Amino acid sequence: MLKKSFLGLTNPRIDYELLPVKVPEPEQVTPAKTVTLFHPKNGAPSAAPVFQVGDRVKTGQKLALFADDPAYVISSVTGTIASISSYTGDYGKEFSAINVSIDENEELADPFDHQNPTLETAIAHLAFVPGNPAYSVLADPEKNIHTIVITGVDDDLLIATNQYIVTAALNDIKKGIGILKDISGVERIIMVTAGESMQGYGHIGAEVKGVDTVYPAALPHMIMKDVLGKVVPAGRNCEDMGTCFMTAEAVASIGQAHASGQIPVHKTLTLVTKDGTQRLVKTTIGTPIRDILDTYNVSINDEDRIIFGGPMRGSAVYSLDHPVLPDTNGIVVVDRSDAAYASDYPCINCGDCVRVCPARIQVHMLVRFLESGQFEEAADNYDLLSCVECGICSFVCVSRIPIYQYIKLAKYELDRARAQEAAELAESTEEMEATEEIEVTEATDA
Ligand code: SF4
Ligand code: SF4
Repeated sequence: MLKKSFLGLTNPRIDYELLPVKVPEPEQVTPAKTVTLFHPKNGAPSAAPVFQVGDRVKTGQKLALFADDPAYVISSVTGTIASISSYTGDYGKEFSAINVSIDENEELADPFDHQNPTLETAIAHLAFVPGNPAYSVLADPEKNIHTIVITGVDDDLLIATNQYIVTAALNDIKKGIGILKDISGVERIIMVTAGESMQGYGHIGAEVKGVDTVYPAALPHMIMKDVLGKVVPAGRNCEDMGTCFMTAEAVASIGQAHASGQIPVHKTLTLVTKDGTQRLVKTTIGTPIRDILDTYNVSINDEDRIIFGGPMRGSAVYSLDHPVLPDTNGIVVVDRSDAAYASDYPCINCGDCVRVCPARIQVHMLVRFLESGQFEEAADNYDLLSCVECGICSFVCVSRIPIYQYIKLAKYELDRARAQEAAELAESTEEMEATEEIEVTEATDA
């Protein structure tokens, strides 16, 4: 996989995983006793919860915890709600974790209104399907989306989930493309596949284009540049340029849901175990990682790592109870002896990070500002916002500086500060308008 250059004279080349021509079927893993569903929290709802511990739920049933909150999850099993607790995810994202004890007899929820597809129906029922389709982007009038890119190749190394979906669920993808065109009005749909695997898709209602199989060619910003010929300016994203990205699995889920009226609840993912074995696994959304690892007799010891996503861009989880989510494309288990530890060694100015950066950022300078928490300066003077988040700089750094994690944190903190500024500005504008209104009323009365 990794072809590292002799004496570092040229850049290392890292290839994406390519599936064999005859793709093996995913192995089925069923949850043992419970599933856990992460219901997004949108601030503090004013109404009392609609669902309580002890309530029965059906497979495919929509669970909206609060009547005044549009957020929901879909129950992936039939059973009884055993507990509802709070969970804080990466970067402070808040969820209600709904734990459901599984019944032996499955009962399916009533079909949703699949005969008359609309974007509103999709937003109301299909936001939790495998692949997490980006409906909110399609519905955002400020984005003006004119192109949808379906990624038939995963964006991280070792992971082959969406490549498999392209080969195994082409009819669902084709149906999903038709539905997407109808509900969004977007006519240009492009499916990107791993370089050599472009042939044989026939007419699916979308252009089919290949991407290079060298990492990070399958990241959205790279696809924008290499496939669509558009460079995303610093600080903007692909949606700002009118292009929405969805995985092949998300589009297949849309097709599958509209074919039957039942909401898909089974997630395909690539499992990479400590010995490097890769498997395609199909399991129920909400299945605890423990159940998957037990199936393959993978033991977890102190300081081993479990990474959700892939080795370059994924994030570690710290509990074997952590569930499979609708966008969990990969789980990588790393033995402590193979784990790459971050260090507090200083940068030695070797320049490796600069040589490999696809965004041509002076990473060795950027990292100095990130380490000292000077995020505004990093954005203004050292191209923080041009970073495409590939993680190669962290991979090559001889001082083992966690550059990628610093970058993610810096972007998160800047977004948070800017959102807070915007909220404060809106609040003070409202106050000023209210004061002016009172003054006008008083003047009129006088
Ligand atoms: S993660 Fe590192 S290598 Fe990748 S684009 Fe950002 S700064 Fe460059
Ligand atoms: S690879 Fe690491 S040590 Fe080398 S210049 Fe970049 S940040 Fe510094």
